Amino acid sequence: MKYYSTRDKSKKAVHSLKEAAFMGLAPDGGLFMPESIPQADLAEVERLAKISYADMAIYLASLFFGDDVPSDKLEAMIRRAYDFDCPLHVLEPGKAVLELFHGPTFAFKDFGARFMGGMLGLLNESSDKLTVLTATSGDTGSAVAAGFHNVPGVQVVVLYPEGKVSPLQESQMTTLGGNINPVRVRGCFDDCQALVKAVFNDTDFRAGHYVTSANSINVLRWIPQSFYYFYAWAQWKQGRAAGEAPDVVVPSGNYGNITAGMLAAKMGLPVRRFVAGSNANDVVPEFLQTGEYRPRPSVRTVANAMDVGAPSNYERMMCLYGDSFESLKSEVEGYAYSDAQIKSAIADIYSKYNYVSDPHAAVGYMAYEAAQADGFYLATAHAAKFSEVIAEALPGVETEIPAALKAMMAKEKHFTPMDNDLRQLEDFVDSL
Ligand SMILES: *Cc1c(COP(=O)(O)O)cnc(C)c1O
Repeated sequence: MKYYSTRDKSKKAVHSLKEAAFMGLAPDGGLFMPESIPQADLAEVERLAKISYADMAIYLASLFFGDDVPSDKLEAMIRRAYDFDCPLHVLEPGKAVLELFHGPTFAFKDFGARFMGGMLGLLNESSDKLTVLTATSGDTGSAVAAGFHNVPGVQVVVLYPEGKVSPLQESQMTTLGGNINPVRVRGCFDDCQALVKAVFNDTDFRAGHYVTSANSINVLRWIPQSFYYFYAWAQWKQGRAAGEAPDVVVPSGNYGNITAGMLAAKMGLPVRRFVAGSNANDVVPEFLQTGEYRPRPSVRTVANAMDVGAPSNYERMMCLYGDSFESLKSEVEGYAYSDAQIKSAIADIYSKYNYVSDPHAAVGYMAYEAAQADGFYLATAHAAKFSEVIAEALPGVETEIPAALKAMMAKEKHFTPMDNDLRQLEDFVDSL
């Protein structure tokens, strides 16, 4: 499979998977897209999903990557990466939640990060020194750190905003050591993301360094995120009439997750409609209302992994809909929620279903209700990762903290403090 940039409308400059994955962002500043979207055999998906998530993922991954890496290696990598499940939890008939938080860092980003870590290991057989540079508002950093820990020949630099990630998220990024180098930036997430983009746009610097991004823009993180939509559908359709298609509701920040769902739909997955839920950073819901796209600085919310004011995947989303606002609007809805609404939704879900929801999933739940959806919404993180918010929303209710999280919290943090300064960052990358 070859890749081209969202900005290269005539598909003049084609890139190999290795180029696309190592570059992260296309040279013209666009995002990489596969040159064609393979069609999935739904009967095969259903059969394999009954065996395991990994079996289904091996089939779907081979449609994209079968020509790039040997199939036995791809298979072994996926079995290692996906040794956890993602069950569809039914709250009541007609309302289900896809739990994407059973991976090692208890958030959905494990699905993309573990796949990408494994694939870079397979693609980087010449063992050139490669630096993975990533900005995070919380969960990306921990997932990437875990997904890339000890991948040979790879140094990981994770930039996160000081004071704007939870203590637990900070522990997850700063306690692994080895090839994981966390950098705490005096600034916000958008500053971190801008710094990463600035390194990629510095052609002189890049000429002397092999750098790639592990953000959700990277094709190796984005494409595998399309797989769990198939898995959810295979579970959801049991007991449904043939040909029925679910509404799919996705709590969204940088819009990588929902855009991967849209990719799944273009691969043939039956979806009736997509619904995006956002926190106070409501750029996309507003765009869907008004037709006007106004990226702006992010504001801080209790669902902080979605605090994004300029979603990177906007371009990819438009590209999947042929750059037509009308076509996008006919299949996608968006709703936005304040912190107060998010906290009261957590309390609501608990009182109705005796189910503890993290703040991001609570946004998904509210959007599901608002859209009067029939299908499922995505739960993107384990509630224990946001215990401060849960304690406020559910006074007196104990959230169970998984043992692996407790152990991590007890470890000493190691990070490099840094100003919002490109030169400092480049010197740091140089020093690794
Ligand atoms: C990253 C993240 C999101 C947002 O996903 P996008 O792909 O950026 O839209 C939502 N919830 C959690 C818990 C996350 O970590």
